[in-house]
Amino acid sequence: MTITIHRPAAEVPVVDTSNVVVVGGGPAGISAAVSAARNGASVTLIERYPYLGGLASGGMVLVLDDMTNDHEVTVRGLCLEMIERMQKKGLCVTPDPKDMMDHIRATPEAWRRWSRWGLFDFHTQTMPHPVCFSAAFDPDAFKGVSYDLIRESGVKLRTHSWFSHTIVEGGVVKGVVCQTKAGLQAIMGDVIIDTTGDLDVAASAGAAHIEDNFILTTVSRWGGVDTDAAERFEHEEPERFKRLDHEAKRLIGGCWSFWWLKTPLPGVVWLNCPHMPKLSGLSVEDLTTAEMEGRSRIGKLLDFAREQLPGFEKAYVVDFAPQTGVRQTRLLQGEYVVTKDDVASRRHFADTVCRGRDYYTPYRAMLPREIDQILVAGRHYSATPQAQKSSREIPPCMAMGEAAGVAAVVALNAGTTVRKADITEIQKRMRAQGADPGDTPSANASFLEAAE
Ligand SMILES: Cc1cc2nc3c(=O)[nH]c(=O)nc-3n(C[C@H](O)[C@H](O)[C@H](O)COP(=O)(O)OP(=O)(O)OC[C@H]3O[C@@H](n4cnc5c(N)ncnc54)[C@H](O)[C@@H]3O)c2cc1C
Repeated sequence: MTITIHRPAAEVPVVDTSNVVVVGGGPAGISAAVSAARNGASVTLIERYPYLGGLASGGMVLVLDDMTNDHEVTVRGLCLEMIERMQKKGLCVTPDPKDMMDHIRATPEAWRRWSRWGLFDFHTQTMPHPVCFSAAFDPDAFKGVSYDLIRESGVKLRTHSWFSHTIVEGGVVKGVVCQTKAGLQAIMGDVIIDTTGDLDVAASAGAAHIEDNFILTTVSRWGGVDTDAAERFEHEEPERFKRLDHEAKRLIGGCWSFWWLKTPLPGVVWLNCPHMPKLSGLSVEDLTTAEMEGRSRIGKLLDFAREQLPGFEKAYVVDFAPQTGVRQTRLLQGEYVVTKDDVASRRHFADTVCRGRDYYTPYRAMLPREIDQILVAGRHYSATPQAQKSSREIPPCMAMGEAAGVAAVVALNAGTTVRKADITEIQKRMRAQGADPGDTPSANASFLEAAE
């Protein structure tokens, strides 16, 4: 039995009021805030950590993928702007267009050039996977560009503010309370956008949701790696490479096919491993376990790599990601719940407001059923656990955030609620600002009348 204590009610100062309050400064939150501000709203963005970027920077998840189908870039808008700005700093790498010509499988040369960047379409069954438009970037560049975007668009940023609970009156969300070093603080808004990734705000407001989990990962970066030597070994001694790579994977105890990938910093690679299943990203105990277990496995892997793997003789750990890699926790069960079949069959919806790879996201998947004036964007959007697994990459989350920011302003301008926001107007504005709202289905899209 859990022992509980009673906390007395507190007087909480209101420290800020905006048209739109965005909670969570990750990829979806940055996009939502910038998009709403560029459309004319006053915006406050709240983040618990001192930096912006969420898993893309603090989680050191360093590839932007899932943003193309076989003939076009489907996630555009703020995500492309982010890529272009990081490229100008020399801290973001995209494949040479001539290596992306074949959408069935990469040529051996293209594969050798781009596979260790992770810039390929891992959803295709063909090997080698085709090289596709995607971007390998530096985490600090993501933070820096995020700050630039926020500053330029006039968003009021409040970092070091840990969301605590939602203020709801008569079924309408009015604001949020944050825990800070200065005590509890309230921030009020006409529309609240939950981009915490874990549905903290909507769940606190009483929105229906489910809880699930996927693997946790403590991402790390290693320096001192001679990546040319490592790649030569991989391609020129395939049998020996296979044996040693297999042993490395056994030591990690769970990883994708490429356990190390290159970054724009010479000699620095990132490790999207180990996989630690059956741990919850909502549990203090599990998160603590993951952090300790992940470090220990990476330590063993480093010893092995230094001893056995060509190119890794002088490798060392640069850093572990300050944020534990949490892929899935709470998922909204909103006005529409996206299914695996919707994603796989590229189902098109009349209220599509953004796209991922080759699938479409309906506006209803951002709307809780029970409460008004709140939108949900990012990896906790309304989807089944299976659907979320294949539609939660950074670019689609950015696209969802961008659409949520637009939707909030469309509703406010029309003097209506976000539930009644004009879909055609959201789509029009998304297109006008360079995003792809997915309003025009591709030839290979599928339709389900009942879902329209
Ligand atoms: C290990 C790992 C590898 C991955 N690999 C890839 C990949 O290669 N490519 C890819 O595109 N995607 C990848 N993903 C998925 C991708 O990183 C996430 O799905 C994406 O970042 C989700 O964006 P988001 O904005 O919805 O959430 P998040 O990135 O989780 O951002 C949420 C933000 O909200 C803040 N926040 C949360 N709670 C609070 C609170 N209570 N108060 C205040 N602020 C709060 C967080 O600090 C964070 O800034 C990977 C994920 C993991 C974990």
